[in-house]
Amino acid sequence: MSKLLLAGVFKPFGVDDEYGEALCTMELLNNQVTREQGVHSPRSNNPSFGLYLMAENVEVPATVLDFPSWEEFAKEVDKGGYTHVGISFIAPNVLKAKRMAEYVRKNNSETVIMLGGHGAAIPELDEIVDYDELCRGEGVTWLRKYFGEDVDKPIIHPVVASGIRKYVYGAPIISEAGILVSGVGCQNTCRFCATTHKFEKQYTAFLSSGKDVFDACEKTGKALKVTDFAIMDENFGKSPKRARELLAEMEKAGKAYTFSTFSSAETIGKLGVDFFVRMGVKFLWIGIESKANVFEKTVGVDLNALIADLQNHGVTVLASAILFMEHHDKETINEDIDWAIGVESDLLQFMQFGPIPGTRLFKEYLAEGKLIKGKPWPEQHGQSEIWFNHPHFTLDETREITRQAFIKKYHTHGPGVLNMAHTYLKGYLTVKREIEEREKAGMVWDSKELGYVKSDKPVRDEYMRLRLEAMKTSALEFRPILKPAEIYAPNWESAQKARMIREKFLETFGPVPLSEKLLAPFVRILAWNENRKLKKYGVVMRQPFTIRQTYPDRKGTVQKSSEHNRWVRHREHKRPADALSHSETK
Ligand code: SF4
Repeated sequence: MSKLLLAGVFKPFGVDDEYGEALCTMELLNNQVTREQGVHSPRSNNPSFGLYLMAENVEVPATVLDFPSWEEFAKEVDKGGYTHVGISFIAPNVLKAKRMAEYVRKNNSETVIMLGGHGAAIPELDEIVDYDELCRGEGVTWLRKYFGEDVDKPIIHPVVASGIRKYVYGAPIISEAGILVSGVGCQNTCRFCATTHKFEKQYTAFLSSGKDVFDACEKTGKALKVTDFAIMDENFGKSPKRARELLAEMEKAGKAYTFSTFSSAETIGKLGVDFFVRMGVKFLWIGIESKANVFEKTVGVDLNALIADLQNHGVTVLASAILFMEHHDKETINEDIDWAIGVESDLLQFMQFGPIPGTRLFKEYLAEGKLIKGKPWPEQHGQSEIWFNHPHFTLDETREITRQAFIKKYHTHGPGVLNMAHTYLKGYLTVKREIEEREKAGMVWDSKELGYVKSDKPVRDEYMRLRLEAMKTSALEFRPILKPAEIYAPNWESAQKARMIREKFLETFGPVPLSEKLLAPFVRILAWNENRKLKKYGVVMRQPFTIRQTYPDRKGTVQKSSEHNRWVRHREHKRPADALSHSETK
């Protein structure tokens, strides 16, 4: 009888040791979006949702072990009686996968070792890791085929939280959200993109219809008591029929779920901002990449106007830009950084152009001899220094230019969380006003036209009123950060901005309730303490909890391990990232 263990790589993360790079923190925002924002940077870890999806969808009894310590992994392997151990990793973590595979081989020689994840595309993997089976594409189908199961069985969507150990200003973030994995892959085939290549330039839907997405919201919502979801899909709006069906299902059920997701600029333009707002999108990741518009998805799109329109309607925009592309030299890279900051998104990722194994870019650079030989895998992550020869930059320069780009964004627009608070507030006010104006003008939503049209039989827009309440909730979640954002502001302009937003909150939502007032001093003490630790150590690293979940009974535990917390002083120049980013995975 087969028994499967599916494991992520072991912690600690963000520590300079023989298996990983310092500051490989397994965090997304802090690594490569709100980097250099110190105490203002939100912290959290995202569970390895692929592991849960696979475990849920194979008949073989399976256990997911996410963020284990080394001891926890070894104990699980020794005591679990597993016939198969699957290890998922990205390229910078390949040495961790190697150690895990060695342990399994040495202590459980009969066990089949399976490797998967983006790291499986490393060409010389055979020479680095001792393994038996390799999954390079979509994991559910691969595992079902491997175990001789029905590959066409419907996909069961797992219940997974989108973030764990969430902190900001040293205080726990109490709002929760679930993850929906509506599909993987992308047909846009950008040459640097790991996702499009991993899934063979095809999109595979796990939730094919709007009803499927809605049902997954209901299921996860009930289990986790959440109404907010991160949709993991490279381009959710690229399937407009599904998105329209999802809105129709929510309207029918009177549910105003909210979503954070990815979308290319051209897709947003096609569906329209009104549609995204009505559907409840409150956070969008948009790849703007470069001023040079070398990718079709941004050609002909007025990004500044689009982003401003989204923000005015309460949609936080995370834009991502790429540094050290072929057309960059000392002058154009600075122009591109200024241009990316100039789109005035709430959050901005700078990711280095990276030839990631499996991509067309990697093949081209390998063939052209541009890859730097012997560059350690743990350093190939896109935030420290590039791993190919660029005619216009030294490696030191790439490291420093990247760091300075983040600092410039921070000093220009202030903390990302402050921008988000402003966007949610602006959105609430705009949508409230627009509902009233439309109702006065007798306009109603037309689901065919995806817009508001004049009607002979105008009715109150009850659904948008429900949506407005959800927007108010989103805005109010940010109210407690406004004071610390002002106290630790990087400059006078940011402090002034925080004060202005605080006044607008007061004007819009009235006085702060007593319960929040009572908590405020604690929040300030935690923020002071976090800031003090950051000053002393440079970086505050919190290790994610270990999650162990068994299937098919779906029993789970979350445990703090001995690697619980670490305060780490990092070398000034080391600032790598581990979590897969949109640009990094594309
Ligand atoms: S970069 Fe984005 S748009 Fe391009 S292929 Fe990848 S996921 Fe698709």
